[in-house]
Amino acid sequence: MALPQLSLLRGDLTTQVVDVVVNAANSSLLGGGGVDGAIHRAAGPSLRQHCRTLGGCRTGQAKITPGFDLDASWIVHTVGPVWRGGHNGEEELLASCYRESLALADEVRAASMAFPAISTGVFRYPTIEAAKVAIDTVTSTPTKVAAIVFVAFNDETWNAYHALLTAR
Ligand code: ADP
Repeated sequence: MALPQLSLLRGDLTTQVVDVVVNAANSSLLGGGGVDGAIHRAAGPSLRQHCRTLGGCRTGQAKITPGFDLDASWIVHTVGPVWRGGHNGEEELLASCYRESLALADEVRAASMAFPAISTGVFRYPTIEAAKVAIDTVTSTPTKVAAIVFVAFNDETWNAYHALLTAR
């Protein structure tokens, strides 16, 4: 299986024109701050109504919904780990978020998807460590998704991905 083409963009996930956008959700799936709040605002109230029926989501797992008012057809909601020093399974749980998101994108036959830097905001995962997990996992997980965009919302995130992607 061919590897997906990776790209990096400085911007807002909610305006991406891709088949799937990934939401860094919390376990309630009912919306929160950061990228989660931005996605719920942009997708409209039907997203919250739909999410109420899903029964939440565990850390490291993912669930898929329609994109509602987004340009994207689908939203994969995944719950990243809260950083607690790095010895509490954080790396494996974060990798699982990327794997499960790719698997759900494959189920809906997505060709393109966009990821935020899961767990690096309120959940405090160190940006460079999280970027390594993101890039390593999407390049080692078999998928039919052809194009993956990492969307960096701030300079620190963009710099971390840029350094790692150009070093590959
Ligand atoms: P988490 O709870 O998983 O840490 P956050 O939403 O707090 O989730 O942060 C995850 C990342 O998403 C951070 O790098 C944050 O800067 C970024 N972010 C926040 N808003 C947006 C947005 N609209 N588009 C893309 N990334 C965003």
